[in-house]
Amino acid sequence: MHGLMMDTQLSISSILKHAETVHKHSEIVSRNPEGGIFRYTYADAGRRARQAANVLNTLGVKQQDRVATLAWNSHRHYELYFAVSGSGAILHTVNPRLFPEQIIYILNHAEDEVLFLDIQFVPLIEAVRDQLPKLKHIVLMVGKDSMPESKLDLLCYEELVEQASKDYEWPSFDENLAATLCYTSGTTGNPKGVLYSHRSTVIHALASVSSDALGISNRTSVLPVVPMFHVNAWGVPYGATAGGAKLVLPGAGMDGASLYELIDGEDVSLLLGVPTVWLGLLQYCEKENLTLASVKDVVIGGSAAPMSMIKAFQEKHDAFVIHAWGMTELSPMGTLNSMNTYMAGLSQEERYKLQTKQGRPIFGIEIRIVGPEGDELAHDGKAFGRLQVRGPWVASSYYKHEDQSDWEGGWFDTGDVATIDEQGYMNIVDRAKDVIKSGGEWISSIDVENIAIGQEAVAECAVVGVPHPKWDERPLLLVIVKEGHSLTKEEMLDYLSDKIVKWWMPDEVLFVDELPHTPTGKLLKRELRDQFQDVYIK
Ligand code: ADP
Repeated sequence: MHGLMMDTQLSISSILKHAETVHKHSEIVSRNPEGGIFRYTYADAGRRARQAANVLNTLGVKQQDRVATLAWNSHRHYELYFAVSGSGAILHTVNPRLFPEQIIYILNHAEDEVLFLDIQFVPLIEAVRDQLPKLKHIVLMVGKDSMPESKLDLLCYEELVEQASKDYEWPSFDENLAATLCYTSGTTGNPKGVLYSHRSTVIHALASVSSDALGISNRTSVLPVVPMFHVNAWGVPYGATAGGAKLVLPGAGMDGASLYELIDGEDVSLLLGVPTVWLGLLQYCEKENLTLASVKDVVIGGSAAPMSMIKAFQEKHDAFVIHAWGMTELSPMGTLNSMNTYMAGLSQEERYKLQTKQGRPIFGIEIRIVGPEGDELAHDGKAFGRLQVRGPWVASSYYKHEDQSDWEGGWFDTGDVATIDEQGYMNIVDRAKDVIKSGGEWISSIDVENIAIGQEAVAECAVVGVPHPKWDERPLLLVIVKEGHSLTKEEMLDYLSDKIVKWWMPDEVLFVDELPHTPTGKLLKRELRDQFQDVYIK
């Protein structure tokens, strides 16, 4: 027997509809890509999203057509989040940091017919336009006065929206229809598309705003520094809208000074972003002797949060770090390390140590670790194996991709190696391909990096395993020294010596000016392994 409840379909448009009626006065603040700060309310955003939906209609966009964006976090990008998916088309957010060949590949693979563009990316598209045969319209997301000279046939976003009717009824459709598309940056091979549905997006938004997760409500002022072109800014635009939070969008300003200005000016209480962004903000605050007075919580994910960063936020800014783990295939939230009674009962030092773990699954996500034979491993905080996940916002395959090898027995294999302790806390040991295999034992490159970064002269560092004649692989530490500081190999090794076991000690420390990153800000270790493969083989 079925329950006797209404069969209302979950839809992305319903999130905005709720906000514009219930939280109509809550604000969205946006640093415009063409300069200046813009602010309006959810009521205004609702009206403009309906106008944008009418624009899509005029441009000939039909249900399930793909519409691409190449844009920073701004109010116009936000409007498209709802206009495109809400009208039944698929929003394809493209990462402008990808190589041009990858951008060409994914725009063609997705068969995007309309592209909404920020002004900074005009040259990028000018250079590749003739290789994008499917693309029919390019809309530049600026006001009429900012339209540049270009060899592209550009439409003006503001002009189109202003001319469009305000009357639009969001259509209703099956909640399992595709809503958004995001490609993983693919450090090997071509990028792969993850196709989210209305259902998965709404459930993910509801789960991630809950108080044991991000705790987003009408009282929150939230700044997602994580870009809207990367896994839908971790779903924050949807979650903030569902909760009626003040949503602060940083545009292209990801540097310490620009971020501080927004945080201070907009009373931001919740920050979300990757560790590299926070390094810049913390260094800026230290240099200018500033504190982040309004900030209560900082969500750090994408790469491991080092203990020194967790401590700096807590001790210098009275801000609690919520360490989070996720990936594009998970929409992206998987585990979160928020405050709870168990953590509250620990000493400060034990608490910091616990905070370096990536936390526990949020409701909806199940996790397990498996050994080489697929055998499930113990949750004792010691046994480590491949991390597998399942749940309603986990991808079940890649878009237009036959290979199902990452999905076996109903679980998605994340490619991460992790431990799970008896309290359910998951700890990422490494990416399976980055783990250092030394004499039959495994060394976590992440653990060594996170300790090395605590040395006060270290600005950034990377640990990779490179071939060794005796031990297969041995760790190599690469360090960028902070401006105005000096550091020798001996000082670095001396710092590490009482913090890690002897056989984890890097055999060599090299000082470099820069480290390569993926388009989503992670260390590109494959490139480092190639570059330094001969260090121990002389
Ligand atoms: P991409 O694959 O496009 O680089 P993703 O955001 O999908 O971007 O990357 C997901 C991966 O990032 C995870 O599988 C994991 O290896 C890493 N990651 C994410 N969050 C953390 C974290 N808190 N600690 C360690 N690694 C993390």
